[in-house]
Amino acid sequence: MRQYSGKSILSGIAAGKILFYEKSQSQIKRLKVENPEAEINRYEEAKKKAVEQLKELYDKALVDVGETNAMIFDVHAMMLEDADYNDSVYNIITNEGVNAEFAVATTGDNFSAMFAQMDDEYFKARAMDVKDISERVIAILTGNTSDPNILSEPAIIVAKDLAPSETVQMDKSKLLGFVTKLGSSNSHTAILARTMNIPALIGVDIDREWNGKIAIIDGRQGILIVEPDEETLNKYKLEIDKEEESKRLLANLKGLKDETLDGKHIKLYANIGSVADVANVLANDGAGIGLFRSEFLYLEKKDYPTEEEQFQVYKTVVQNMAGRQVVIRTLDIGADKQVDYFDIDKEENPAMGYRAIRICLDRIDIFKAQLRAIYRASAFGSVAIMFPMIISVDEIVEIKKICDEIKKELLTSGIAFGEVPLGVMIETPAAVMISDLLAKEVDFFSIGTNDLTQYTLAIDRQNSKLDNIYDSHHPAVLRMIQMVIDNGHKEGIWVGICGELGADTTLTETFIKMGIDELSVSPSYILPIRKIIRDIKAN
Ligand code: PEP
Ligand code: MG
Repeated sequence: MRQYSGKSILSGIAAGKILFYEKSQSQIKRLKVENPEAEINRYEEAKKKAVEQLKELYDKALVDVGETNAMIFDVHAMMLEDADYNDSVYNIITNEGVNAEFAVATTGDNFSAMFAQMDDEYFKARAMDVKDISERVIAILTGNTSDPNILSEPAIIVAKDLAPSETVQMDKSKLLGFVTKLGSSNSHTAILARTMNIPALIGVDIDREWNGKIAIIDGRQGILIVEPDEETLNKYKLEIDKEEESKRLLANLKGLKDETLDGKHIKLYANIGSVADVANVLANDGAGIGLFRSEFLYLEKKDYPTEEEQFQVYKTVVQNMAGRQVVIRTLDIGADKQVDYFDIDKEENPAMGYRAIRICLDRIDIFKAQLRAIYRASAFGSVAIMFPMIISVDEIVEIKKICDEIKKELLTSGIAFGEVPLGVMIETPAAVMISDLLAKEVDFFSIGTNDLTQYTLAIDRQNSKLDNIYDSHHPAVLRMIQMVIDNGHKEGIWVGICGELGADTTLTETFIKMGIDELSVSPSYILPIRKIIRDIKAN
């Protein structure tokens, strides 16, 4: 039994088998290199390791499945020494001046396509082998990889890092928890873990050797226990049962109003990233969806989702929410949410770069496709739209013009749509300072405290080194929240919080006394917050 510490993302407990996850080949990028010679050396080193691995596999297979079957690993090792294969890798590295991973991937693709086209069945079968050996070398070059859809049984995923797109692709019903070496508690991957109600630890000194071993994530203490002894495992199993019991008690709050003792009603909404999360919202009795992070729809795809594809997703969410309000946040990519097909230049400072509404107002076609899809979905329930990273009144005036154009187009084509309130996400100090002016233009405000804290304190939310001073309770942030509430109320619009701070139960009473109208939180926080709301007074 060994114990490792990390930073907890969600204070739950999980127990199960570890699955060590390594990045997939699809992420291989073509990179220019200064020194092709060094790349060739890297390739040679990786190849040597691959041959060693194949020898080990041969030995294991010999015992497990016999000599005839084990031979395949010998054949693979020989293929790696094939002169044509190696010449191709060297040529790509040298002539194109690119990285070894890319050269191996290209060679693997070319050779396997060539074999696949042959008439001879024997050579046809070699196509898979070439692919296999290339993937092995690439895995070594990149520090190992595999497909994110790896969960064939419930498991705790352990990985160096997880991108939001990888996290969303995992089968949530089988993901018991995850543990990473990198990442910060305010990253989107961490937010996803909270949304999915999955215990997670970051900053753990992970080890590939753990693959297949039983482990426990204790999110309350921020520890990972690998190969627990029987006594510890049983103790934690009891804890898990207790957690289940307290969930059952909270379940008694289902169906009750989100109202303070003195009668102030709070919209207690949920944050989601996909259609799959709606079930969790309903299970926790969310009164609506206060933040649908629509960009995850783009992150899951290899190309721009069409208007029709988006419409189907929004419509499904809206229909499933059966009349409860759904606030869709328009595309917010950039920073830690990168999408290859957008072909965005690498930036020195992406958090302050070309992202969110800046991209949408620059690439109007993408923006319009999304807005049309949302307006069409609004015919099926109660929909609102909000816009991320706003810094000026001009932006919102321009957005409203585009929305008007879309409504006109839909009317002309005889396509139905509903009444759609428009809101601004307050995520920048600029938006706070002009919230009196913005409030005249829109129907609601939703405060994105994750980014607002980042930009107010000048602390990169992705930087785990700064996690201990990324302080959403900072008086500067709390004063800004008060200012936004007051300015919103002066113009008669509602004001909510959809950043992670909204789920901080130590502040629920403070927010309500400040006058907040809505809190949008990860589904698992809805009932604990309902309990607090019902026990306090707003005034
Ligand atoms: C926020 O910034 O608080 C927010 C809700 O948006 P995101 O976390 O998706 O950037
Ligand atoms: Mg944000």
